[in-house]
Parts: sequence; structure tokens; C-alpha cells
Amino acid sequence: MAVEYWPEGTPEEDRPIWDLFLGRCVRCLRFAVCLHELVPKSLAPKLKTTLSNRVPVCAECHEWAQSNTAESARLLLSIARQRIMSSLVIRRRAEALAKLGFTLY
Ligand SMILES: [Zn+2]
Repeated sequence: MAVEYWPEGTPEEDRPIWDLFLGRCVRCLRFAVCLHELVPKSLAPKLKTTLSNRVPVCAECHEWAQSNTAESARLLLSIARQRIMSSLVIRRRAEALAKLGFTLY
């Protein structure tokens, strides 16, 4: 059975974002409660549904992000990119080790 990282009722189109970050807050790694828009929809309505503009956050980090919009957008985007790159590197290493015959658990 596949693990689901999104909260109940999450729209289908949002689920890849939750999966990408394993349901964790991009800033502090606690369980996320919502998706935060890096560029607020009030400033760029067309970005509202863009996957790259949204990251999962916990309640505390969401409050921080909403009260520090410009600073939080830069920081959260930077952290999100680092987390995505790290997960890609880990996956590639696991694939390389598997090709060499190592069994990964
Ligand atoms: Zn957080």
C-alpha cells in the first residue's frame, strides 16, 4: 500500500507537492498543514495553481511566511530547491548501489 503524504481532502493536483516533500514543512520538517504560495495570489493570480509557487508548511511557519512575505519567499524557495536536489542525489545513489548489487532496505 502506497504511503499518502497529503491531508484528507487534498485536491488531486496538489498531491505531487505533498509527495515531493513527504508531507513535511519545507522550513522546519514538522508535519505540514497547508501549501503556502511563495508569491501571494493577490500579487500574481496566475501563479496560484503553479506547482513551483507552492510549498508545504506547518502552521507556525505559515504564520511566519505570511508576515514576512518577501524574505520568506526567497528563503523557502532556496530551501525547497536544496531539499529537491538532495532527494534526487539520494535516489541516484540508491539506483547506482542497486546496479552494483547492493540490496537497499
Ligand atoms: Zn514549519
